[in-house]
Amino acid sequence: MGILSNDLSALSSKNKSFLADNRRLFIGGQWVEATSGQTFPVYDPSSGLEITRAQSASPADVDRAVAAARQAYDVGPWSKTSPAERERLLWRLSDLLEKHADDLAQLESLDNGKPLAHARAIDLPLSINFLRYIAGFATKIHGRTFDLSVPYAPAARFSAYTRKEPVGVVGAIIPWNMPLLMAVWKLGPALAAGCTIILKPASDTPLTALRIGELVAEAGFPEGVVNIITGSGGMVGAAMVNHPSIDKIAFTGSTAVGKSIGRQSANTMKRISLELGGKSPVIVLDDADLNVTVPGVLLGIFANCGQVCAAGSRLYVQKSIYEPLMAALEQAAKSIKVGPGLDLATEMGPMVSATQRRTVAEYIASGLDEGAELVAGGRALEADGYYIEPTIFSNTNHAMRIVQEEIFGPVLSAQPFNDEEEAIKLANHSPFGLASSIYSTNNNRIQRLTPAIKAGTVWVNCHNIFDPALPFGGYKESGIGREMGEEVMNMYTEVKSVCMAYG
Ligand code: NAP
Ligand code: MG
Repeated sequence: MGILSNDLSALSSKNKSFLADNRRLFIGGQWVEATSGQTFPVYDPSSGLEITRAQSASPADVDRAVAAARQAYDVGPWSKTSPAERERLLWRLSDLLEKHADDLAQLESLDNGKPLAHARAIDLPLSINFLRYIAGFATKIHGRTFDLSVPYAPAARFSAYTRKEPVGVVGAIIPWNMPLLMAVWKLGPALAAGCTIILKPASDTPLTALRIGELVAEAGFPEGVVNIITGSGGMVGAAMVNHPSIDKIAFTGSTAVGKSIGRQSANTMKRISLELGGKSPVIVLDDADLNVTVPGVLLGIFANCGQVCAAGSRLYVQKSIYEPLMAALEQAAKSIKVGPGLDLATEMGPMVSATQRRTVAEYIASGLDEGAELVAGGRALEADGYYIEPTIFSNTNHAMRIVQEEIFGPVLSAQPFNDEEEAIKLANHSPFGLASSIYSTNNNRIQRLTPAIKAGTVWVNCHNIFDPALPFGGYKESGIGREMGEEVMNMYTEVKSVCMAYG
């Protein structure tokens, strides 16, 4: 306890009663107890104290949720709901998120540890805007028409067109770093496309997803269209992945689990979209504007305590500006105010869990062992909460684990490079390919580098900038498919070709 712990008396009365209530599973429009009769604790990362408990669903609960989602999809009413009605319901949900934005931001901060100011300024507006953006696609799903020239039926005539149909029942499995946004990234396109969905939040952060269940009911979605179940990934998530009546798994999480989902989904040929890990490179050329670069690099690695899949965790700086940039980053990193999420002065909160803090501390120790030079941070704070200092390593190289592996914490690994060719080689030397950034004031150099980087996103003179219109996803082991943009609708639809002979 102490100044590094949240002051829980500051919670809104809505959130106090939400936490005091026994959380249940949202299945078929009802809040039900898990058949296991078991619950699991939910912790405040700033203190390590239990704040509430959630239900441990079992495979039998997955069966119940699948039955509800199948009924709503196969029999109706969801399959009979018009696109305009789906659009209207998504707008209603976004309006409810907006109405309750302050409570949701507070709950998100408490559950995940992120600064309340960031939850308010980033997570909530992004979630609300995304729902509104994607709602419009419900009425804009369309196929194409064709004139055919079938070579073996020259005399016949055909009229042909394609239809885009919902993929069916979606199982969505999401991580704990941006719990509300990740939930909305799955719910929005699934519902716009006409799918029904079973959502399993991460066990470390189930709260805002459960709150969304209440808002889904209030918005008027029919029973069974959205089902939200909590419980362990190894049991509930695995039961979803292997379930014969789930048509698609939409997964965001680690590459290890994503690969195993890919392998298992082959048994049922489920559709999959996988948003996985990253180790995103940041390239700073010698003509970069340091006034833009320093805050950009810091936001890239320390936003959300480094728990961002797109975090710019590998820094490559052209030799002539390496020393001044590292000095500026050191000074800025040391001035970041670390504290409990609910304190509005906090710039970086605790990590989400004791496990995550331990993992990051082990990576920092490995960096020191392997000879990296510690420039800033490096310590876990002496507190009950899961704090780690903003950490920067210099003189790193690609033999080090801190450069090759995703840490998912506030740890930046920097090294100098000589020329553009070397920068590209280093940037692409990774099994991941989620995102990247380039800092430069020379457009020719930016244009040369952009196509050479093997990553789903290239940010220029910025990092961690997300917008509903911009597709986001990974090359290489960072995943399959794209979230957001119009591209995401392809992840939730099947294409049906219709070919009609006529005289
Ligand atoms: P994780 O262990 O893969 O967990 C993610 C989700 O999968 C959780 O809901 C988890 O449930 C569930 N899960 C765990 N094992 C499972 C299994 N065998 N079968 C089915 N589901 C299972 O990931 P994490 O370590 O918590 O999250 C951090 C990772 O997510 C990082 O690698 C990060 O890069 C990635 N991420 C990617 C993006 C993106 O858009 N590309 C965004 C955010 C995070 P439990 O919580 O119950 O374990
Ligand atoms: Mg995990």
